[in-house]
Amino acid sequence: MSVERPVALVTGSSRGIGRAIAVELAGAGYDIPVHYATNEDAANETVALVEASGARASKIRADLGSGPDRNRLLDEVRRDFGRLDLLVNNAAMAPRARVDILDATEESLDEVLAVNLKGPFLLTRDAARWLVETRKEHPSRPLSIINISSLSEYAPSVNRGDYCIAKAGIGMMTKLFAARLAGHGIRVNEVRPGIIATDMTRGVREVYDRRIAEGLVPLGRWGEPEDVARAVRAMAGPDFEFATALAVDLDGGFHLRVL
Ligand code: NAP
Repeated sequence: MSVERPVALVTGSSRGIGRAIAVELAGAGYDIPVHYATNEDAANETVALVEASGARASKIRADLGSGPDRNRLLDEVRRDFGRLDLLVNNAAMAPRARVDILDATEESLDEVLAVNLKGPFLLTRDAARWLVETRKEHPSRPLSIINISSLSEYAPSVNRGDYCIAKAGIGMMTKLFAARLAGHGIRVNEVRPGIIATDMTRGVREVYDRRIAEGLVPLGRWGEPEDVARAVRAMAGPDFEFATALAVDLDGGFHLRVL
């Protein structure tokens, strides 16, 4: 069991932004339990990338919408690594269909809120209990939680209200856990990505190509998963040790309003 290296659990690290975060953190000295939902081949690829940078990795399958799966996820991290230093709440799903909110369905709301909000909240509750226990034995060990929210936290897309509501909830989740855990010296921060090139945005690639060309993103390009990953690595590290409840817009300036 590793006791020397810190351990970072990055949910949804099989693909996209989560994979980039896992690889970046592995390069920064963390061991990584690679979490995924269904895509085992992608998880295997992340494990190989993490191991290539000299870190230890394992592979854990868990549906974040399922209580028993979430419990098993943390149990397996405990069993395989024996410690947790950083939780990155990254995994999320897009709604299966983008539908005008006047046609919103209860099924989609239930599914998206379970995976994107309820699951991360309850996983964070349980991870936070573990971190509080860890703090008693390790008064100066850096411990933190980083939530990956979205510009959808504040920018409404009327054809995916379920996703936006979940992301707005993640913003409050950052504040809640930051307030609750500050007294234990456990930091809770957030990265709000803008438009990032991953599987999640593959279906709207041409629409966003056009809108970015028209000026939607002041810096004039798509974000890459590595843009987000570097911000997460910095936030987890000593340069941000006095920051908690901080939300960083990693979006090429999307949030900037210009008159
Ligand atoms: P992605 O490429 O679609 O990857 C999603 C990840 O989440 C995968 O690892 C997937 O596992 C996992 N996942 C999906 N459903 C799950 C479930 N029910 N239980 C557990 N894990 C599940 O997404 P991404 O673009 O990298 O997004 C990562 C995070 O950034 C999300 O929180 C997303 O909302 C946020 N974000 C993305 C963008 C963007 O433009 N891409 C913008 C703002 C914010 P499998 O591989 O097993 O399916």
